Amino acid sequence: MTTGKINVSVENIFPLIKKFLYNDHEIFLRELVSNATDATLKLKHLTSIGEAKVEYGNPIIEVKIDKEGKKLHLIDQGLGMTAEEVEKYINQIAFSGAEEFLEKYKDSAKDSGIIGHFGLGFYSAFMVASKVEIITKSYKDEPAAHWTCDGSPEFTLVASDKTERGTEIILHIAEDSLEFLEEFKIRELLTKYNKFMPIPIKFGTRKEKIEQKKGESVAEEDKDTIFTEVEVDNIINNPNPAWTKQPVDLTDEDYKDFYRELYPMQFEDPLFNIHLNVDYPFNLTGILYFPKMSADLQLQKDKIQMYQNQVFVTDNVEGIVPEFLGMLKGVIDSPDIPLNVSRSGLQADSNVKKISNYITRKVADKLKSLFTENREDFEQKWNDIKIVLEYGMLSEPKFYEKSGDFILYPSVDDKYYTLAELKEAITENQTDKNGKLVVLYASNKDAQHGYIEIAKEKGYKVLLLDSPIVSHLIQKLESDNENLTFVRVDSDHIDKLIQKEDTQISKLSEDESKQLKTVLEEIVPKANYSVQLEPMDSTAAPFIITQPEFMRRMKEMSQSGGG
Ligand code: ADP
Ligand code: MG
Repeated sequence: MTTGKINVSVENIFPLIKKFLYNDHEIFLRELVSNATDATLKLKHLTSIGEAKVEYGNPIIEVKIDKEGKKLHLIDQGLGMTAEEVEKYINQIAFSGAEEFLEKYKDSAKDSGIIGHFGLGFYSAFMVASKVEIITKSYKDEPAAHWTCDGSPEFTLVASDKTERGTEIILHIAEDSLEFLEEFKIRELLTKYNKFMPIPIKFGTRKEKIEQKKGESVAEEDKDTIFTEVEVDNIINNPNPAWTKQPVDLTDEDYKDFYRELYPMQFEDPLFNIHLNVDYPFNLTGILYFPKMSADLQLQKDKIQMYQNQVFVTDNVEGIVPEFLGMLKGVIDSPDIPLNVSRSGLQADSNVKKISNYITRKVADKLKSLFTENREDFEQKWNDIKIVLEYGMLSEPKFYEKSGDFILYPSVDDKYYTLAELKEAITENQTDKNGKLVVLYASNKDAQHGYIEIAKEKGYKVLLLDSPIVSHLIQKLESDNENLTFVRVDSDHIDKLIQKEDTQISKLSEDESKQLKTVLEEIVPKANYSVQLEPMDSTAAPFIITQPEFMRRMKEMSQSGGG
């Protein structure tokens, strides 16, 4: 037997990393901005615990395009690196300085928001650059260092004369990646991935009008304002997005503003929001919104966005957010969701399952409190939210368990019942021969108008259940409530209901009714229609002709052996 060590040479691995590390080349920018953010947050932490005796100030990160030079610059004012640290952190592929930092400052830095963890992010630069330079000056009193690498495993490291603290990364953009020198492209990427990162990111400048009141000496001109244009840093991100704040510090208006910030094209206000905030047994923050249902397909494309430490990761939250909440909007942010794993891997992850269950529970709790705090308002929103919730009842057992608290069953005349209230309301006179409670419902108010009127005449409650998945829901409710049966208002069952009070029933005797029916049946074409007698003193039609009734009669006929 022979044992040995597989010989991995960097020459072979490097091109693989370049090619396959990430299938999306554009994420190089996310990675480099994340590193610049980490470097700044680390410095913030070190100054706060007194380990770095420098002024933290108001550091920003700058992204700059040099189109002629075909270079992209990323400049931060973070903690920088000494030459020794460059050797340690940059020259060792798959060694994460971020993880090392978090390990070292375990207790104090766990909430510092540091992003990196695979030790591979930096190398994503080589997906778009033929050469990368790092010019960096540590906050420690040591000379600056200048590292250069052209994508082969050889690098050079020399001293540099950089004097300001921080790191500048220079990407020499490769010929096949020149799109990353376009201003609109970089702006698009920064907006997509970095819009809510915690350190301000400058990309160019913009003109800002500032108001200047004219002197008060001339009364007439008092009201006039002069606008002067000044050039200011163009900061592309909001470092303190709403979800990172405490719910008590946010007003309704703040939540709506944040919704518009997330989805600038959505003009309708959301119906309500759910602020998620948990740090045990996993870490998750976020805000989910129930949107007003939009007919606009473009707007429906706005999805829940997933972040890790304020870095955008994806808007495919399949497996993380329960499927029935797919129509919701908003953000979730969790460092505990494994990325870079397949969807099926995600589903198998126990944290992810817990997160999904947590979201279900929070949504159910919020619905319950909305319902109990302001029932009228909740009823008004019902039409916009019912599909999501009904689908939730069918697809998510944990949600179904809680749904009795807030799921509503509207009647044709806009009264809303919970299931318990409904049962209460129909015990009086809606039972069938087997003693089951019969829930009458219409699926289309206009088409079934006549039947609805007749049922109402008889004093029956008729629900309006018109969402597309209602038949599944009914099945579920019937199988879980043995004493309940749902009957559509135009079906043949309605005449089988047993009323407690018989007063309004037809004045004809049974025999007379039979005779009348026989007469009527001779007139209408038997093959397609059937005849049903109604109470003669009713204001509704004295008899109705229905098709479903024909089916019932056919059945009775076959049962009685007739033909
Ligand atoms: P990770 O972020 O997972 O640690 P990266 O490959 O992205 O891995 O970066 C490797 C290390 O290089 C970082 O942990 C950090 O120590 C160092 N580094 C990268 N960029 C910077 C920067 N802008 N300023 C200071 N250090 C940096
Ligand atoms: Mg990183």
